[in-house]
Amino acid sequence: MQPSGPTHTRARPHDAATASAPLAPVTDLAWDADRARALGAEVVALWAELLERLPAMPVAGRASVADVRAAVVRAVPEEPLAPEELVAALRTIALEHATYTGHPGFMAYITGAGTVPGAAADLIAAVLNQNVGAWRLAPAATEIELHLGRWFASRLGLPSTAGGYVTSGGAMAAFIGLKAARDARAGWRIRELGTRGGPPLTLYASSQAHDVNTRAADMLGLGREAVRVVPCDGELRMRVDALRACVARDVRNGYQPVAVVATAGTVSTGAIDPLDAIADVCAEHRLWMHVDGAYGGAAALTDALRPRFRGIERADSVAFDPHKWLYTPHSGGVIVVRDMQTLADAFSMEPSYVYEDKELTGRGVDLYGLGPQFSRGFQALKIWMSLLAHGWSAYERRIAHDVALARRLHDRVVASPVLEPVGPPPTLSIACFRYVPRELRDRRGEAQAEDYLNRLNARLMTELQLGGRVFPSNAVIDGRFALRACIVNFRTEAADIDALVDQAVATGEALHRTERASLGTA
Ligand SMILES: *Cc1c(COP(=O)(O)O)cnc(C)c1O
Repeated sequence: MQPSGPTHTRARPHDAATASAPLAPVTDLAWDADRARALGAEVVALWAELLERLPAMPVAGRASVADVRAAVVRAVPEEPLAPEELVAALRTIALEHATYTGHPGFMAYITGAGTVPGAAADLIAAVLNQNVGAWRLAPAATEIELHLGRWFASRLGLPSTAGGYVTSGGAMAAFIGLKAARDARAGWRIRELGTRGGPPLTLYASSQAHDVNTRAADMLGLGREAVRVVPCDGELRMRVDALRACVARDVRNGYQPVAVVATAGTVSTGAIDPLDAIADVCAEHRLWMHVDGAYGGAAALTDALRPRFRGIERADSVAFDPHKWLYTPHSGGVIVVRDMQTLADAFSMEPSYVYEDKELTGRGVDLYGLGPQFSRGFQALKIWMSLLAHGWSAYERRIAHDVALARRLHDRVVASPVLEPVGPPPTLSIACFRYVPRELRDRRGEAQAEDYLNRLNARLMTELQLGGRVFPSNAVIDGRFALRACIVNFRTEAADIDALVDQAVATGEALHRTERASLGTA
């Protein structure tokens, strides 16, 4: 591209005078080691300050959109900010308008606390700025990422052909796993011809499966309705008899079933589908078994909890999220497949400008040919460095502790006269409950009372979040709005669980006092 505009002279390639004219360096962006040291020191000081102050800070702010915007958004400056201004801008972002997933009271959604070594690793990964799409551009990074993939696969009990790599998260891991499934099981050249090359393909997932799986079917051109919704049992696990019936009906009607999405740790309650029995159905019908372990997959890596996931070792692909229950900073999920060749089959491409004689160079695998991304960052380093810094037994202990904390929450809920569990007791580290005023205990199930309880508990969740000490989220189970605590946070302890219970009771009572007029009588 040629520069244009009044201050530039147009380059003329054959003009000897222009070619030899001095071209002054443009060094604005090339900060030296001293400037890196100075900015780095400020950033590290801010990081340490945040860690020190975190327990006493509110989990989240209460500022409105307008306030947040006014505080953090500004016109892009023409000239650099002064160093103090730059640091002040970072302080505002870090200390005033963040929601702290690593705060001891944060128990919402399924969002890991963020390891300290992982944050340091992210800095170094950015410093190196490698493109982990090609081995030649990132030799150590590629080998670490592939090693991690193999290690996760082996802990899940998959064979030596298995492996995987780091993705942006569970949603992308679902897309990749189901892309491999589609291409391996369609039976025609679907990458060339698309879905018009054969009968309509179908997938199967339980009513509790995460929506990202349905969206993956949409992105794969199969359509959301290609995902058949299989009903669950009372424990919110996929009913295998219903799965069989769905598959048989589709086969009768001319559809071509390709894959089952089994969930290992549902997002609402942490339920684990009967993986072994689902693997039997997959074997009978030659279906690809994809396990959505975005949440529970990390627990399946531990010796103590692996027995609950029996059958996961029979999966063709497993999605799981280090940024959830391995606590590493956002973002980083993992896709593991039974046979790495299936990823090459689903994603290979041969760009003309990426020539290489691997025999001559002795270089390794290029990850761009195994997944949907071309350029890719070194997201594996924060996971790798966290494992190195903590050692695996620390994870075994902490993951088990999270499960024990969810159990403690459940027990306290059961013991309370004004709280009740919603859904089955915790299988993993999620507990769901709601506040039920004494006078409504006997009216549970009545439409009017249930309606009121849903409104009351929705308001209760919001009030607790705004309160700043604890931050639960919600689930809706059989039409009942529940407060949901998911413990994937190594700073949460029994005192935080107790604070959640005590505040839910106190705030629930206060809300009921002001809201009960809206209840009416049956
Ligand atoms: C969180 C979650 C996802 C989505 O993963 P992201 O990392 O948020 O993209 C998918 N499935 C389940 C069961 C989850 O818990």
